[in-house]
Parts: sequence; structure tokens; C-alpha cells
Amino acid sequence: MSDLWHRVPRVTTHLEPLALPTAADALAWLSDRADSGLARARELVETLKANPPADAMAALEAWNDVAIAMGNVASASSFFSEAHPDEAVRSRGELAMQDVTKLSTELSLDRELYDLFAQVTEDGLDPQAIRLLHKTLRDFRRSGVDKDETTRDRVREINDRLTVVGQEFSKAIRDDVRTIRVTLDELAGLPQDWLDGHPADEDGLITVTTDYPDLVPVVTFCTVRSTREALRVAFLNRAWPDNDARLKELFALRQELGELVGYASWADYDAEVKMIGSGAAIPTFIDKIADAAYQSGVRDRQVLLERMRHDRPEATEITAVDSTFYEEVVRREQLAVDAQLVRTYFDFGKVRQGLLDVTGRLLGVTYVPAADAQLWDDEVAAYDVFDGRDASPETADLLGRIYLDLHPREGKYKHAAQFDLRPGVTDRQLPEGVLVCNFPRGLMEHDQVVTLFHEFGHLVHHILGGLQRWVRFSGVATEWDFVEAPSQMLEEWAWDPDVLASFATNDAGEAIPADLVAKMRRADDFGKGYRERTQMFYAAISYYFHVERPADLTQRTRELQERYSLFPYLEDTHFTSSFGHLEGYSSGYYTYAWSLVIAKDLFSAFNPHDMFAPDVARRYREHILEPGGTRDAADLVEDFLGRPYTFDAYAAYLAQ
Ligand SMILES: [Zn+2]
Repeated sequence: MSDLWHRVPRVTTHLEPLALPTAADALAWLSDRADSGLARARELVETLKANPPADAMAALEAWNDVAIAMGNVASASSFFSEAHPDEAVRSRGELAMQDVTKLSTELSLDRELYDLFAQVTEDGLDPQAIRLLHKTLRDFRRSGVDKDETTRDRVREINDRLTVVGQEFSKAIRDDVRTIRVTLDELAGLPQDWLDGHPADEDGLITVTTDYPDLVPVVTFCTVRSTREALRVAFLNRAWPDNDARLKELFALRQELGELVGYASWADYDAEVKMIGSGAAIPTFIDKIADAAYQSGVRDRQVLLERMRHDRPEATEITAVDSTFYEEVVRREQLAVDAQLVRTYFDFGKVRQGLLDVTGRLLGVTYVPAADAQLWDDEVAAYDVFDGRDASPETADLLGRIYLDLHPREGKYKHAAQFDLRPGVTDRQLPEGVLVCNFPRGLMEHDQVVTLFHEFGHLVHHILGGLQRWVRFSGVATEWDFVEAPSQMLEEWAWDPDVLASFATNDAGEAIPADLVAKMRRADDFGKGYRERTQMFYAAISYYFHVERPADLTQRTRELQERYSLFPYLEDTHFTSSFGHLEGYSSGYYTYAWSLVIAKDLFSAFNPHDMFAPDVARRYREHILEPGGTRDAADLVEDFLGRPYTFDAYAAYLAQ
């Protein structure tokens, strides 16, 4: 196997990892990195404008230098702002992030800069430089910088207004916490520790809010239907009616912006830079996935309905009032997996080592503890990534450095994500990245193990895709609806019984049994069809609301829910007022499902009985991860699979 991993060295210059500061020096270090980086970017832009290079290559080189300077500030600031233990350092990081965003907006609207790139010719440029020139010009055009002054003013006005309305929209959702007041009897079924945290008031009533720590246990465990219904309806009416007008304004402004910069619709503008390509392809995709999910969705919904009929023989349909509750009942009664038993196989230390062993073997790299790395917390681990399996640091090429910061800490980012510490540029700087997660120090849940593999997928993409001449194409610099695919695919290795058995062992050293993993998988798969139909309902709202801009959002919600969701509309609810993703995803909520389609298709190339087969693994690394953003994702996938991507693997998975 090592033969197949013998590679022509790609690294020509020995580069040093970034020397991070000690705790005492962190604030000064970050301030200096941010200030000097931004000053350097401004100076480079001024030089470029003062002496416009005659040839395109020189202009692109200068622009690459600007992007490297800004990328170095943005990545370090973003990471420090979310994860440094010192609050002053985190605040400094936030400030630097704002400065980078400001400068980046300013440059995107700089007509002189745009003219400079618009005037150069492609003569003498290699294909990658031509690609960079096209992308650079497209970035400029999408900002409207090539339009007349009146249009540019209006574009600026719209962007400012979009920021304000978007913030108001999100704030209204956060702030509108609704409550119901019920008796203790009406909360039957709730766990005792939850009830202990919710004492009754002087009227003998208990207040339950629409925040997740109340909502989730109540809709999952409360055996009193009227309580579930009251809370679900309250939840679906958050930010209504206030956000209704804001949504209509957002849709109208986005449409106007799309048209001003030359597109038929906002959806077309948004989809142009994605793998899906055009707005019109979105509803086609939604319908395809909805069809593929229909049969298994109806089948699993029937299981819920039949179980509900034991309690309520008169019931003829199941709605959101009952679906979560009965899904939990079915899981408990028919798909039971002993969560306490499962945890005993996932000791954090073994899982972390297992992750490194599995991905090292799959991707042909060796992780060597980086003894010289300055760590911001004792629990952080740093590794240098060397090319080749069982590579020796003395002779192998150093590809980059990774940090694993995996446990909770006060003031730290609360979710799980990969942060760039520095983008890689060939012969200039090594790619470096950090996994920031919040896992327990002892035993882990299996879904946390899956999350760890997922996030690590982004980290290795950043490192292995980080050997690029042009920083614009470095690492995870790919289409937004493709970004998740490599990570979603890596999750499969955290579900494979043989792979898990290689590191998931209990105190007695016994590996997790294959039949337990199969049971976990069955439980996880239950309901995937109807869940996907719900996702397609959300995706349809996100698309059709932008394209149609309906006068009555509630009426259109009702229609789309009937068409896509397998659970009917609840009377007198206005869900879209609190559908926060209409801000972040706008018309592109389809993206998560899209990258799952690609992930399943990529995975179909691997032999499920030999998940480490070196020829496939090597092709995957070379054709999908290493190119970063140097090619369109559709071409990368076609190169790897030897055919264009299809929906077949995902459709087959949904239909199971
Ligand atoms: Zn992800």
C-alpha cells in the first residue's frame, strides 16, 4: 500500500509553521498581525493603482499579495475572536474582523481597481491565471462596481438597508420568546430534572417558553397533547406579525439588487457562484429529492400514525403536534438503542487517536505531534501533517499544521467548526487550521463522533487543498453548495462497523459489536424520508418566496407545505416569520441537501467492504481535496468518478 502512496514531491521550499504567541503576548501579537496586514494590503493596492502593471500576470500577482495579506488577517482574527481564552484578545479579533470586512467592501467597490483588471488581456496567461482573472472580474461585477454612479449609489443603499433589515429580522426571532402557562399535570411525561428546574408560581402554574431547552423536551416527551399543541403553535408564531413586512422588504431589495447588477432574479444572482448554477435548477432539484424521499417518508409516517392510533384510535393524520412525540415513542419501543451502552465504546482519547489513524490511512498522511507549537490552552493538541503513510519528519514533505481544540471552555465558541489559522500558498506559507469543538473529556455520544469526523473533513480539505499559487483557490475555496460534501462523506467512516471496531473499544478492550452499529444506523435512518420532505418544504419556501415575492406569505406557506411536507399545515401559524435561514441562506436553502447528493455520489466510488482501498483513496485526495478551488466542483467530481455526478446514490439511500 505504501507504494501507491509514493508521490512526486510537490513541496519545493521548506516553510515554517506560524509561531503563535504566548498568553501574555497574544493581544499585542494579534493587534500587530491585524494592523500590519491591513496596512500592507492598503499599501499594495495604492502601489497597484499608482503604477498599473502593463501585463495581466503582474496585476494578478499584486492582487494575490493583497488577498494573502487580507486572508491572513481574516483567518487569525476570526479564530482568535471565537476561541482565545482571553476576552480582550477575542474582542480585538472581532474588531479586526470588522476592519477586514470594511476594507474588502471598499475594494470591491473601487472603480479604479476594477478598470485596471477589466483592461488587461488574457494573452500569455496560463489557464489558472485566466480562471483567476475571470473570477476576479466576476467578483467586481457582482458588487456592481462596473455600473454608472447612480446605480452604484443605489446598490450601496440596498446593501446598507439589507444589513439593517436582516439584523432586525434575526433580532425579532431571538427576542420573541413566547410562553404558555400550564399545570404540573399538563406536563406529564417530562423528565424529573427538567420539572425540578421549572417550579410552579403562586397560581400553581408552570411557565414554559419557546426556547429550545423547553421546547425540545416538551414536544418530545410531554404526554398531554394540548400542551404540545399550545407550545408548538406558540413556537410557530414567533416574530409574527413583525417579521412579515421585513421579509417582504428583504425579498424586494434582493430582487432589485440582482436586477441592478445584471441578473433576471436574485435566485440567479445567488446561484451563479454555486455548483447548481442557475435559479431555475433549484425547483427541479427540490422536486427530484422530494420524489425520491416520498415512499420511505410515507412508510415511516405510517409507523408513527399507527403507533398514535393505539392512544387515539380516531386520529386520521399526524401533524407537527404529534410527529416528534411519536417518533420518540417509536424509537424507544421499536428501535431502542441503549445510549448508555453505546457511550462506553467512545472514550475521547481513543476516538481522537482513531480519527487520526483512520484519516491518515485514508488520505495518505502522517500526523506528528508538534512539540514546538505554542498552545493557547493545555487541552489543545497540535500536529504537523506530513505527506505519506508512516512518514518520517526528517525526510517527508510538511504539508501543514493542525490544532485540535476539542473541549468546552469559558468564553469559547459553542458549536463545532473548522477555523482557518492561515491559508496555504505554494512556496510562501503553510496552510494551518484549527478544529474548535465542545466534546466531553470522558465518554462521547456517537453523534459527537460523527460530528468530529465531519469537521475534520473541512480541516483536511483546508490543509490538502492548501498548496496553491493563488490564495483565491486555496483550501476550501470551492462552491458553497459543494463545501459540505467532503465532510459529509467522511461521516461514513464513523458509521462503518469495521472502521469503528478499530478504535471504539470499551474499558475491557472489547470492540463495539457490529450488530450494535447496525441497530444505531437503523435508528438513525428512521424517518429520513419525511425529514427530507420537510427540508424540501423549507427549500421551496426559500426559493419561491424570493422568486414570486407573494403578497400573502402565510397562504403560500400553506400551499408549499401541502405540496412538499408530509405533515400538514397547522391552522393559525406563521412559521416563516421565524425561519431564520431566510436571512443567511436567502434563496439557497437547498444547499445542504445538494451537498449530500454529491457526498453520497462520491462515496459510491468506495468499496464498502474495503473503505481504505488505496487507489480510490488516492484518487479522492488528488481529484477532490488537493485542487481546492482551482476547478469547478462539478469537474472535480467528474474527474474522480469518471462520469458526471448523478442523484442515483442519494435517491437510493432515501428510498431504503
Ligand atoms: Zn460542515
